Amino acid sequence: MGDQLRFDGQTVVVTGAGGGLGKAYATFFGSRGANIVVNDLGGSFKGEGKSTKAADVVVDEIKSKGGKAVANYDSVENGDAIIETAIKNFGRIDVLINNAGILRDVSFKNMTDADWDLIMKVHVKGAYKCARAAWPHFRKQKYGRLISTASAAGLFGSFGQCNYSAAKLSQVGFTETLAKEGAKYNILCNTIAPIAASRMTSTVMPPDVLENLKPDWVVPLVAVLAHSSNTSETGGIFEVGGGHVAKLRWERAKGALLRADDSLTPGAILSKWENVRDFSQPEHASGVADFLDLLEQAQKLPRNP
Ligand code: NAD
Repeated sequence: MGDQLRFDGQTVVVTGAGGGLGKAYATFFGSRGANIVVNDLGGSFKGEGKSTKAADVVVDEIKSKGGKAVANYDSVENGDAIIETAIKNFGRIDVLINNAGILRDVSFKNMTDADWDLIMKVHVKGAYKCARAAWPHFRKQKYGRLISTASAAGLFGSFGQCNYSAAKLSQVGFTETLAKEGAKYNILCNTIAPIAASRMTSTVMPPDVLENLKPDWVVPLVAVLAHSSNTSETGGIFEVGGGHVAKLRWERAKGALLRADDSLTPGAILSKWENVRDFSQPEHASGVADFLDLLEQAQKLPRNP
């Protein structure tokens, strides 16, 4: 049944669709009946230069197979223009895949403001601007599917990538909040942390590993999340690549409950340090509300020893 997932009449905007994962999404959705906006700035993986070629090649490929696609060459920082391309050409937007990205890898010791700022501009501001421009359309039509792109680097840290890690984890908080704000309007928002062979990973992984990490193996999960048959999966984080698909979530340790008064000293915390970091019976925290009860209980405790 999943093999039949189609997107006829819908418009899918894919940012950074000139290569790698974005190209795989665009060609897939194009082959399943959707109108595609193929956005790509066409620069290097470090964010230098620009060209219309990357987007044009993908548009031609989709059209040559009978699909419908238009190119957009703006940087994602100019999200308004990208979404406008969808509205002008197809009259609507149903799915936004925030995928565009670059790297400026350098150890923290050598990080410059320029390395930091460019990564934030493309990943954080770019994702915001595209989603912000799509949002009124999603709300008005009471339908929208947003896919954000995080990374293992953001979830777990990665040597030499502190700018990229910070930008990528930001996608999680951003998307979880949009999931909450969008729920009432049937706007479902999820984050993926993909792994795939692309120009971004070609220098950091051996060829035999890359061989098993085709971008095509990330696409099906994105299709499932972006399809109208997904009516409830929102605010999720998914690891995906090379045949592995798994949802991730936060875990809260057993923790220490301490009375919150002047007896709450460093020593009081140290006396319960094992509990603070005891994950033997984890809770799966999903918000502040989960521990408001605990705060009340803490007030009823005797002074800390
Ligand atoms: P890629 O370099 O092949 O694709 C990224 C595309 O984004 C390029 O075509 C590039 O021209 C475009 N782009 C860059 N800056 C842009 C801008 N300002 N405006 C519009 N387009 C722009 O890399 P990829 O591996 O396909 O990466 C796609 C996304 O997945 C990125 O967000 C990346 O951070 C993320 N990601 C990839 C991996 C992986 O294993 N490949 C892992 C984790 C996260």
